[in-house]
Formats: sequence, C-alpha cells, structure tokens
Amino acid sequence: MKIIMLGAPGAGKGTQAKMIAAKYDIPHISTGDIFRANIKNGTELGKKAKAYMDAGQLVPDELTVELVLDRIKQKDCIKGYILDGFPRTIPQAEALDSALNDRGEKIEYAINVDVPDENIVKRMSGRRACVNCGATYHIVYNPTKEEGICDVCKGELILRDDDKPETVAKRLSVYHDQTQPLIDHYDAKGVLHTVDGTVDIDVVFAEITKFLGE
Ligand code: ADP
Ligand code: ADP
Ligand code: ZN
Repeated sequence: MKIIMLGAPGAGKGTQAKMIAAKYDIPHISTGDIFRANIKNGTELGKKAKAYMDAGQLVPDELTVELVLDRIKQKDCIKGYILDGFPRTIPQAEALDSALNDRGEKIEYAINVDVPDENIVKRMSGRRACVNCGATYHIVYNPTKEEGICDVCKGELILRDDDKPETVAKRLSVYHDQTQPLIDHYDAKGVLHTVDGTVDIDVVFAEITKFLGE
C-alpha cells in the first residue's frame, strides 16, 4: 500500500497519516519530521534546511528528493508506506513517479485533505508539537491528557517556530503556488481521493478507511 498525503499546511495530514500507518502497519515517513530531527541533531542537512523552514519556504528539491528515494528503499517499506509532506512540488512528484516506475511500482492512493485557508491559521496557532517524539496535538481540537505534556512520551510541547501567523501566511501562499498543482497531477493518474478535512479527526479517518478498506 503506497500512499501520499496532500493538503495545505495544517490540514491534518500528519494526524491522519499516523492513524493510517498504525491501522495498516506501514511506516509513516514525514519529510518535515526528518528535517526537524536533522535540525535537532545539528547535521549539515539540518543547517541547510532550517533557513528555508524558518522563512516558510520549501527546502530545495535537491536536498529533499534523494532523502526520500533512499528512505523508501529501506526494508521496512516492502509492504508500502505513507509519505506525509512529500511530494510538495511537481519536480518532486515526477522524481518519485519515475523512481517507482523503474521498479514497476506506483503510488496507489493520493489522499487530499481539504481545508479552506480561513480555518488554517486558527488550527496552526493551536497546534503543539512534542520536542521529543514529534507527536502533534491541538489545544482545543486534540488536547493532551495533561496540559503541555506529550501523551506518548511525556516530552515537552512547543509551538513550532514556523506556526506563527506571519510564517503560516507565507507557507499557505507557497502551498497554493507549488503544491496545489499536485492535486491535478494525481487526479490525472486516477489515484486521487479528496476528503473534507474540516470535520472531526475521527470522521476524516472514517472517510479515508472507506476507500483504503477495512
Ligand atoms: P506541515 O505539516 O505543517 O505542512 P511539515 O512538517 O510537513 O509542515 O513541513 C515543515 C517545513 O519543512 C515546510 O514548510 C518546508 O520548509 C519543509 N519541508 C517539508 N517537506 C518538504 C518537501 N517535500 N519539500 C520541501 N520542503 C519541505
Ligand atoms: P499537517 O500535517 O497537515 O500540517 P497536522 O496533522 O499537524 O497537520 O494538524 C494541524 C493541527 O490541526 C494540529 O494541531 C492537529 O491536532 C489539528 N487537527 C488535525 N486534524 C484536525 C481536525 N479534523 N479537526 C480539528 N483539528 C485538527
Ligand atoms: Zn512525545
């Protein structure tokens, strides 16, 4: 089962991707999480990526594509995987499609989580991320059991630097310019499934399992 998640920043891609990965027992591969782990560990890649991320821009394709193509060659990806936050540009999608095509494989599901811009800023200001394990919560829509503490690992929760309203506006405009065209790209391949992302987390997930299967 090879799946990609599409949708604006804050649409709920990560939230749904984690649930899908758990239900279908496939790895959840988030490029944002990989970049943040590299920043935390002070790697060269992390240093390069940070400047772009803080500015609300995309990390260049040259730094992103290889990383993902290497990752999906790992053993744990044999049964499939869910890509969250990749591809984000047409060149990334073309590089992915062509690497898969060489192996006689393809993306089977492109799940587009649809949320209008008006809802996004509110979502992002309430998002909290665990510094330790990357789990995400929302202070109103998906709160932790104990305030400020991760349910999974007891790590500390923070507001991501790039979730400040100015940066969110920039990220939304980058999304419309560079990532939204992927909706038509995967629609043309007959693998697009659009779900309403404005309803409750569990309702979105139920919609997704309708086409992924029980
Ligand atoms: P969100 O889930 O809110 O959309 P992500 O965690 O996916 O945010 O991404 C955070 C940032 O990491 C992006 O704004 C971008 O700078 C960088 N990034 C993540 N994935 C990619 C990608 N596929 N191509 C380029 N940049 C990326
Ligand atoms: P993305 O990966 O697309 O950037 P996230 O999964 O991190 O988005 O979700 C963004 C924020 O919105 C998080 O705080 C998350 O808890 C919250 N959220 C996710 N899905 C929903 C939903 N269906 N309704 C309300 N809030 C949601
Ligand atoms: Zn945690």
